Amino acid sequence: MSGEYEKFCYICRRTEEKTGPQITMPGGINICSDCMQKTFDMLDANGLANIDMSGFNLNPQESAKVSLDKETEESDESKNKNQKDISRLGNISFVNLADLQGQIPRRQKLKKKKKNTEPVIDISKIPAPHKIKASLDEYVIGQEHAKKVMSVAVYNHYKRISLGDDPDVLIGKSNMLMIGPTGCGKTYLVQTLAKLLDVPLAIADATSLTEAGYIGDDIESVVSKLLAAADNDVDKAETGIIFIDEIDKIAKKKNANSRDVSGESVQQGLLKLLEGSEVEVPVGANSKNAMVPLATVNTKNILFICGGAFPDIDNIIKERLNKQSSIGFMADLKDKYDNEENILKYVTIEDLKNYGMIPEFLGRLPILFTLEGLTKEMLVKVLEEPKNALLKQYKKLLEMDEVQLLFDEGSLEAIATKALEKKTGARALRAIIEEFMLDIMYEIPKDDNIGRVTITREYVENTGGPVIEMRGVTPIEENG
Ligand code: ADP
Repeated sequence: MSGEYEKFCYICRRTEEKTGPQITMPGGINICSDCMQKTFDMLDANGLANIDMSGFNLNPQESAKVSLDKETEESDESKNKNQKDISRLGNISFVNLADLQGQIPRRQKLKKKKKNTEPVIDISKIPAPHKIKASLDEYVIGQEHAKKVMSVAVYNHYKRISLGDDPDVLIGKSNMLMIGPTGCGKTYLVQTLAKLLDVPLAIADATSLTEAGYIGDDIESVVSKLLAAADNDVDKAETGIIFIDEIDKIAKKKNANSRDVSGESVQQGLLKLLEGSEVEVPVGANSKNAMVPLATVNTKNILFICGGAFPDIDNIIKERLNKQSSIGFMADLKDKYDNEENILKYVTIEDLKNYGMIPEFLGRLPILFTLEGLTKEMLVKVLEEPKNALLKQYKKLLEMDEVQLLFDEGSLEAIATKALEKKTGARALRAIIEEFMLDIMYEIPKDDNIGRVTITREYVENTGGPVIEMRGVTPIEENG
């Protein structure tokens, strides 16, 4: 019967006489090739062309079974069946548009559903404090107190997140403030912690932050960085860690006549973030502008760790301690603390206020602890003990040339002594090693016969050379 009527396009209503042959879709709908092409162009422009069209079934009942979600694996049998149902004109495979419209939102919904059923943080997956500390021990030398405090604080922080919005007891945030000389492992501790917990981490430098509107980074850019570290996944970012280094640089400026846009104002601006608030941050950029999409991130569950060296704070501490000890019956020598090595460990909130940190800011960083400066013995350990110790890295590099690299006792001590002189903690180690290893790494691959190189104290101190041994031959000493 249908042959009695002329076919007309379901979209443009033109007859087959005008459009040329039309394609009949299931359900008796005809579409001309022009309209079909337009539809594809439109899909292309909307970025939907990447969808694997071959997975669509033209039969409406069947299509309900076909999932767009790539995670659902189709059996081979059903795949073949779908393939057969697809009408083809040349290289173009056709799609039932009504189905397509229905399919796309369904895909998004599925994702959302999954998100709702998953708890944000599964406390059973967070290792107990002693386990966190044991893992930190594998990487970080010394800093026993800091590692202990951090392990407990982090554990409590994630417990707090897993509790959700329990109206009974609201557990406070475990934001931390760590104080320690440069190169003693502050950043390294946080990096290791984030890696162990598998949470995103953003490291920001307080020196670059200024009040919004001034030259420098907006305070909210730290959240933007975290979002980037979480691959723009807002849920992941909301349980991440933000480390703000050089926090002492935003101390209140003394005797400032103008507005303190990079000091006190930044502390003020950070208050809201530390406490927990919703911030709109640009996705994939540092500053907001019309071209950048925005995402809303809640900082309620983000763990903030601030770190700083607070140079010269020892004078404030000493002054206070000396004053205390020289008053009253228990009066002590006035300069009792002048020669104390690790004076930092006596730091109090009061000292930090005197340094220029505002009370509200300190109040939002309830966990305060200090790290010790690395001693020579600790530096030697840093060289060889951590899982990714520097010496292990160089040994591995030479091993690839089938050369054994050894360091004698004296050489390690010499490296540590040199590093101590630079007063930049463990940071100096790499530069020192790099300096004398350059020649070794340049010369050794030249000669296939070299089997072993031993670095000596003399070589590190520039008064002698390394011991170079050939494969299967007696040791040869080389000056150099
Ligand atoms: P800062 O305290 O100034 O933030 P870092 O944490 O950046 O110092 O330390 C610089 C480098 O020195 C780290 O990448 C790490 O390799 C090494 N390092 C510092 N302290 C330690 C430590 N206690 N144990 C092992 N390595 C350390």
